[in-house]
Amino acid sequence: MADHQMLGERRKGSPVKRFLFLLVVVLLGLGALVTFRVGPEPSVSIEADLPGIGRATGVQAVFEEPVRGLSDLRLELVQGDRVELLAEESHTPRPPWAFWGARTERVVLEAEVGSEAIQGLTTGEATIRASASRAGTWIRRPGPAADELILPVRLVPPSLSVLSDQHYPTQGGAEVVLYRVGASSIRDGVQAGEFWFPGFPLPGGGEGDRFALFGVPFDLTDVNEIRLTAEDDVGNRSSVGYVDKFFPKAYSTDDIEISDGFLAKVVPEIMANTPGLPKGASAVDDYIHINRNLRRENAQTLTDLAVDSRQEFLWTSAFRPMPNAQVMSAFADRRTYFYADEEIDRQDHLGFDLASVRHAPLPAANAGVVVLARYFGIYGNAVVIDHGFGLMTLYGHLSSIDVQQGQAISTGEILGRSGQTGLAGGDHLHFTVLLHGMAVNPVEWWDAGWIRDRLKRKLGAALPFEQ
Ligand SMILES: [Zn+2]
Repeated sequence: MADHQMLGERRKGSPVKRFLFLLVVVLLGLGALVTFRVGPEPSVSIEADLPGIGRATGVQAVFEEPVRGLSDLRLELVQGDRVELLAEESHTPRPPWAFWGARTERVVLEAEVGSEAIQGLTTGEATIRASASRAGTWIRRPGPAADELILPVRLVPPSLSVLSDQHYPTQGGAEVVLYRVGASSIRDGVQAGEFWFPGFPLPGGGEGDRFALFGVPFDLTDVNEIRLTAEDDVGNRSSVGYVDKFFPKAYSTDDIEISDGFLAKVVPEIMANTPGLPKGASAVDDYIHINRNLRRENAQTLTDLAVDSRQEFLWTSAFRPMPNAQVMSAFADRRTYFYADEEIDRQDHLGFDLASVRHAPLPAANAGVVVLARYFGIYGNAVVIDHGFGLMTLYGHLSSIDVQQGQAISTGEILGRSGQTGLAGGDHLHFTVLLHGMAVNPVEWWDAGWIRDRLKRKLGAALPFEQ
């Protein structure tokens, strides 16, 4: 009882003292925080998206400090005595006494380093340095946290020289170029507009001797857009124009009227055979989706197939046209589609439409390996043959397929029969010649004289062409 009384009296008796005592404790605590509570060391890490510095290498520095937050951040390039500021940011960390309030926990600084962005870099090495100051107190100023990444600096692009002559491509056509490239090249070939035609070692050639079969897009008219290029692993690039003469070619345009009967024939069949196609509000909507999106997907598949093309010439003679066939439509027809007198779409028809009799047997235009034999979107039942080095032929709208994927094919072997599957109104063969996925004019490949002149003369023994 007595104890209780005494405590009770003390509680009642000294509220001011108690308050002062608490105040002192709090002030001492705050004083300690303000004096000693520095932020922890921020984590700093640097990454580069190439193994060295050349033309343009992206570098990223990631800074993290989740306690008091980030303050001053710097990303710089150091070479010899030179320090080049690449990026910097300043943030206000929480005050030392605060355990709440705004702070910046994570920042990514990015920059491009290389001869394009920084003048006067020299071959050798350079250091990318990222530093983050630590949140300090009035008395303590700890040093910054830093990370460094040492990268080789290489500024000389691969050597590149053209070995062949008389490059006379036609708009929409194909050709070959022979060249010699330095050992540092990791990617070389021909860029023609938006299309890329990779080079390959020249069979029987010397060290660094390579060749690229290339096509000219049917709508490319500026010869300067055709360049032979070579790039090393840090993005240094050599590029030369090598076309001696360019033959422009005008292609035709055509208006196509889409009827309800045509829609009823093609749309349900393609939908049924193409899993994943979305169902639209009407047959004409479905048709537009097929003509536009499925056409583009099919084109991408053909480009992807070319990546695994055999690195050998599988053909030894001119390509054969479909026998006894009438040309219904030639290469590169710019088509405008109408439905009920209204324009609904525009697409380019980049093959030959050839018709003979119904269900005509279809011989392979040349020797190769079947890389696709199935229902294939707008082409219906289709066969694609790889002839090597990115050259392929496509046969579309078949009524039946007689070959299998992976099968080796000799010239003239029957692939199947003509039909009207896919986007076809009547029985015919849609025939396309593809170079690395891009359609080129088949007329050249049907012509032994053109192959002799434009390819064999340059490739010599590397091309086992017999005629
Ligand atoms: Zn066609």
